[in-house]
Amino acid sequence: MLVVKVGGANGNDVDNVLIDLAPRKDYVLVHGGSKEVDSLAEALGRPPKFLTSPSGVVSRYTDERTMEVFTMALPGKLNTEIVARLQSLGTKAIGLSGADGGLLVGRRKQAVRAMDNGRVLLVKDDHSGTVDSVNAELLQVLLGAGYVPVISPPAMTAQGELINADADRVAAMVAVAVKAEALLLFTNVPGLLREPSDPSTLIPEVPREKLVQVMDFAYGRMKKKLFAAKEALEGGVPKVVIASSAVTDPVERALSGQGTVFT
Ligand code: ADP
Repeated sequence: MLVVKVGGANGNDVDNVLIDLAPRKDYVLVHGGSKEVDSLAEALGRPPKFLTSPSGVVSRYTDERTMEVFTMALPGKLNTEIVARLQSLGTKAIGLSGADGGLLVGRRKQAVRAMDNGRVLLVKDDHSGTVDSVNAELLQVLLGAGYVPVISPPAMTAQGELINADADRVAAMVAVAVKAEALLLFTNVPGLLREPSDPSTLIPEVPREKLVQVMDFAYGRMKKKLFAAKEALEGGVPKVVIASSAVTDPVERALSGQGTVFT
């Protein structure tokens, strides 16, 4: 079983990944869609805002109105388009948000610390959070019946509140829940780079005991991918690969070790 996550930022080529996955049945797909959320937010006159934590991790500021946009863009538009594309490639695909069947249940953060002109602010109306449990039984039922689950945030709280959970970390939780043999995180760069603007500085292999050291190379959202890799490995997933989607046969390449392989 594979868990494959595709990114939504510019420079990703999701279709390459879908085409490469088409002959398979033994996988779960997870997707984000930051670009899609940004453009819908702009179109609706609600420009996106971001928070930077004191340690430098950037995340979307998701107030209640942004959560509406998030839900329209991700489970609404992008998830449906990915499912339709997989169907056209001969895959029985089924789209699920974290609310469907209580797939992703977690907690909303009470307050988020964010930097503002050098000061730390406490932001209290942010709907972001973390997933505590994955309904693995639902995924097994679907996979057992020959359906490929295509999962998109948001997640939800036990009280039914929607939460913006990071798709890389969701993918890690799902990989642990289905006991995946590998988690593939596809993105718009060849992997973890020593120098983010220079693709020739790829770090090919990271054994788990070195993961904390390489954290220093990652900025912005790459940090979340490293957290996801750590969480997956700690949860028993033997291999995580961060790799480019903008190549032919991205899945085959990632499985054969192209990209950054965490073990
Ligand atoms: P996606 O939508 O594909 O998940 P993100 O924008 O969330 O993509 O994360 C990938 C981005 O992380 C890269 O485009 C790059 O700008 C940034 N990044 C920061 N540090 C690094 C690094 N050390 N190596 C590679 N990319 C990095």
